[in-house]
Amino acid sequence: MSLSGATPGYQKGDLVYAWTTNEDIARSAECGGAVTGLQKFALESGMVDAVLAVKRGSDIYDAIPVVITDPADLAQTAGSLHCGTLLLAKLIKKYLGGTKDRKIGVTVKGCDTMGLLELARRGEINLDNVVMIGVNCGGSVSPLTARKMIREKFEVDPDAVHKEEIDKGQFIIEYDGGHKGISMDDLEDEGYGRRSNCRRCLYKIPRQADLACGNWGVIGDKAGKATFIEVCSDKGARLLSDAVAAGAIATEPANPKGVEIRGKVEGAMEKLGQKWRNRDFTALKEDLWGTIERETSRCIKCYSCIEQCPVCFTDPDQFEKNSPMIRRGGLPVDGMFHLRRFAHISDSCINCGQCEELCPMEIPLALFSHAIRNEADLVFEPKLGRASYTN
Ligand code: FAD
Ligand code: SF4
Ligand code: SF4
Ligand code: SF4
Repeated sequence: MSLSGATPGYQKGDLVYAWTTNEDIARSAECGGAVTGLQKFALESGMVDAVLAVKRGSDIYDAIPVVITDPADLAQTAGSLHCGTLLLAKLIKKYLGGTKDRKIGVTVKGCDTMGLLELARRGEINLDNVVMIGVNCGGSVSPLTARKMIREKFEVDPDAVHKEEIDKGQFIIEYDGGHKGISMDDLEDEGYGRRSNCRRCLYKIPRQADLACGNWGVIGDKAGKATFIEVCSDKGARLLSDAVAAGAIATEPANPKGVEIRGKVEGAMEKLGQKWRNRDFTALKEDLWGTIERETSRCIKCYSCIEQCPVCFTDPDQFEKNSPMIRRGGLPVDGMFHLRRFAHISDSCINCGQCEELCPMEIPLALFSHAIRNEADLVFEPKLGRASYTN
């Protein structure tokens, strides 16, 4: 079955409220289960051979990527895990053969979408074989930060929390014996809250995916029970049309007031992202070289930042080979080790945060890479404006 070409029904640009008709999925879904319902339909109908999504592991802080081939297993992936800081793009290259010989459906945040596009540009992934179901993303919280924040700010045992959500600017937890919400702004002012790359992220609605799904703009009796879907491609239009025709998904036109609200929230989130960029990049400017030198001197050369980065392609071994300025395996790290890496990704860092998140020495690598990318965009591609650095 080809993945391109829309059938009559929905068209690119359509805005709808949607929800699953499957009770199992609806029970565990975040906002009506349209995303999981669409993934299930894509698998059942043969539009894809497998689905890559995320499921909860041992607790709410543990997000596990999972490849599903049996539609009956999809319900376990329903629900949003805001402490799921993983990036799915590189997993597709590494473990799914870059979708060269099979079709997959994948749930993507903005950074996952950008990662897939970068990999496709390098010929590492065949996007013709990928259905990207995008989820809007206000940001994710590192599992360690979440645990600390819940213990220190919420004064709740993190292990007693069975549900978290981010709603109307608050981080909200449900735990044995109650629920509590604290403003994200207050949390972030005190160093808790979303990852720093997420604060700077401007890519809130992933319109480069095939469908962009989220809860912003769902109002009235459907609030919390449906997902707002923007149809972003012919492929997405076809998936939604076929799923509705088959009775897997129900829809109604998005409420115009809801459309307006969604636009305003997106604008406010972008402004907030700009504010964080200004704050982070200005602070860095004060002592750019000193900061980079000081922070990277802690490096233990575990190569995780090279391994995990979706746009850094060098094999860790190759990275040091043939370099007269880097001692292979030697510590302390040579300056060129990091300069080389920054140069390599300077025009393509997507600010996904993986390098920083997984650095055992807690070096703010994404901040450095993002600042370099942002600077390059502003100087060399100013006419592209924000489109050049949507993330
Ligand atoms: P479901 O049917 O419950 O499916 C959820 C899908 O998300 C599943 O495929 C699951 O595997 C996947 N998933 C769960 N956690 C992750 C993760 N960490 N990374 C990648 N995939 C994941 N919508 C907004 O409108 N505004 C927001 O600010 C916003 N922030 C979000 C932040 C995060 C980290 C996530 C994951 C989602 C966010 N969403 C946001 C989207 C929203 O929470 C719902 O996912 C969306 O409305 C779809 O609801 P649903 O019931 O159809 O999804
Ligand atoms: Fe979401 Fe952007 Fe953070 Fe990715 S980088 S998790 S899209 S806020
Ligand atoms: Fe993501 Fe870091 Fe690579 Fe940039 S350098 S794309 S933030 S892993
Ligand atoms: Fe060094 Fe951190 Fe990169 Fe490991 S992840 S090589 S410690 S900078």
